[in-house]
Amino acid sequence: MENGSILFGAAYYPETWPESERKKDIEMMKKAGMNVMRIGEFAWHKSEPEPGRYDFTWLHRVVDDLAANGIKTILGTPTATPPNWFLKEHPDAAVLYPNGQRALHGGRRHCCSNNSAYRKESEKIIRKLGVEFGSDPNVIGWQLDNELYQGDCVCDECREKFHLYLRKKYKTIDELNKAWNHEIFSQAYSSFDDIPMPVIGWQNPHLRQAWKAFQHDSDIEFIHMQHGILKEYTNAPIGTDMMPLNGVGYEKMCEPLDVLMFNHYNDESNLPDLPFWFDYLRTVAGSRPFWNTETATGWNGSIQIDQIAKPAGFCRVNSWLPIALGGRANLYWLWRQHWAGHELIHSSVIYADGRPLPMFDEIRQTSEEYKKAESFLNDTEVSAQIAMHFTSLAWQMFEVQPTVRGLSYYPALKDYFYHPIEQLGLRTDVIGVKKDLSEYKVLISPLLMSLEDEDLGDRIEEWVKNGGTWIAGPMTDIRTAAGTHFTDRALGRLERMTGARLIASMPDSGRYVRSIWKDKTPFSANIWQEVYSVADGAEPLTEVCGDYQSLIGGTLLQKCRYGKGNVWLLGTFPSCGDWQKLIMRVCEENGIKVPKASGSVCAIPRKGKGRRGIILIETAHQPASYELSEPMTDILTGIDYQGIVELKPYDVLILEERI
Ligand SMILES: [Zn+2]
Repeated sequence: MENGSILFGAAYYPETWPESERKKDIEMMKKAGMNVMRIGEFAWHKSEPEPGRYDFTWLHRVVDDLAANGIKTILGTPTATPPNWFLKEHPDAAVLYPNGQRALHGGRRHCCSNNSAYRKESEKIIRKLGVEFGSDPNVIGWQLDNELYQGDCVCDECREKFHLYLRKKYKTIDELNKAWNHEIFSQAYSSFDDIPMPVIGWQNPHLRQAWKAFQHDSDIEFIHMQHGILKEYTNAPIGTDMMPLNGVGYEKMCEPLDVLMFNHYNDESNLPDLPFWFDYLRTVAGSRPFWNTETATGWNGSIQIDQIAKPAGFCRVNSWLPIALGGRANLYWLWRQHWAGHELIHSSVIYADGRPLPMFDEIRQTSEEYKKAESFLNDTEVSAQIAMHFTSLAWQMFEVQPTVRGLSYYPALKDYFYHPIEQLGLRTDVIGVKKDLSEYKVLISPLLMSLEDEDLGDRIEEWVKNGGTWIAGPMTDIRTAAGTHFTDRALGRLERMTGARLIASMPDSGRYVRSIWKDKTPFSANIWQEVYSVADGAEPLTEVCGDYQSLIGGTLLQKCRYGKGNVWLLGTFPSCGDWQKLIMRVCEENGIKVPKASGSVCAIPRKGKGRRGIILIETAHQPASYELSEPMTDILTGIDYQGIVELKPYDVLILEERI
């Protein structure tokens, strides 16, 4: 494998196969065009069959055999599956569920990340792995644990650490009682030790938010501990593979890590959602790489299939999306179907008996295409002028306080705000709380309930003052960091910045509070309405009509000057058409060209090292079109294109401008 190659491979479980099978496996890996395997993530027992008796010879042989055939290794720490001897010695390390039952051995992630014996044992095996493989040039990356999402463990160590967490944050119990308004329901506590773990019954939302944050922090601490140990032994990049669930703090989790890893199992129905995640991972990664560590070649399933077969071409298009959007690796789960045990029916690259799955040809084709496009991919980076916020704090707050029944942060953000922009053929960076804003012309922050998230509020304000265009709302800046209302103002800073006043915020989908654009055409307002007074010097774009006389004269959308920039104050979830109308106006004002596009095209402009182009990927298995601004050539086929490009279902075009 050459430096600069896209990593292409799968998860391989040699611990479950006789060594005599390896030759056959490796032959097929080479046929598939793979250059990396991810191994060892659950193989603790094989490497330490009894406490303190380590044996890594089998693992060395695997790494060496693969390397002899040009295949590198990403090595996993096996902490998701400690052996049975560990739980026999430390039964208290098993997760304690709120119903009083303990997790059993036999699945994975059944030990509590806060348990000290589990941490100690984990440290030992990680250190051993570091010693054995840390300087092995064939181990080109490390994966810490696997899909680490702790449930509601209520063990004694979790309780103690939770109380310590609250004590550190609030110093005195009186402060905490005051901050969370504990006179309601006579909740006031006399000691931190009395505070329950809020897993049962009707609990204070601020307590529940703190519990969520504490759980995430415990997992993050566990991973950072692992990273710290391995760093003593290796220079290879270290990451942890996570799934898009639970609002876990990706940014915080990945802060010290060297590579971002991401697992997903999107199918035909939600493939168009996938770019959202890669647009996010790319910005969180920054100068680090991100790797798509798991995806299915076809369907996923354990003892039954949860997904059905997908159209021909799905595997290829699904494999291209992470790479086109900035990733440096695409790996399937799994290489060879398990012959017995868990996840028997999951799709793979080859069946248990070694036959290839029907997607094998697409896999091989993808590998060849990566190579063809490699120099363009290496020279260029994804370029976006628009950014949209997606933060862990906002996600946690909506999980605890959805505000309107059924309102969920990620689906609402992507469906109401992200997708309509992508349908316009534009690329949006999805950014977390830490991302520098200076490279963007337009920033969109819907559903950012609190701006009291690190220094985010101040940084946005400064950026707008210096000329940025910020679309703020709906439901943005409406809470403190703990999730409480403000009592001396309606919003944290938006009223002060814009001069507008919030007249009312209420749940209504245009039934009683209706709005029209200035040209008198209807403006659709869904789910929630924040009606503002029009600020001095602001341009209202819509006006409120309907039965509520107190709201007449107010608006759901106005453009307010702030410093050299603008704040577009938005108070509702517009329809796709109304949102696109606003975006097109904002783009026009900011010199962002909106192409003509139809259907579901993921359009990815890339530039760098004097090269420019655009990757077009059709994601909905429908015909689509996209208008090119310059004549271009498809790197994969050599075909020239100009003007309107007609895309067939699941087309992938890697287009470079002709110079
Ligand atoms: Zn616990």
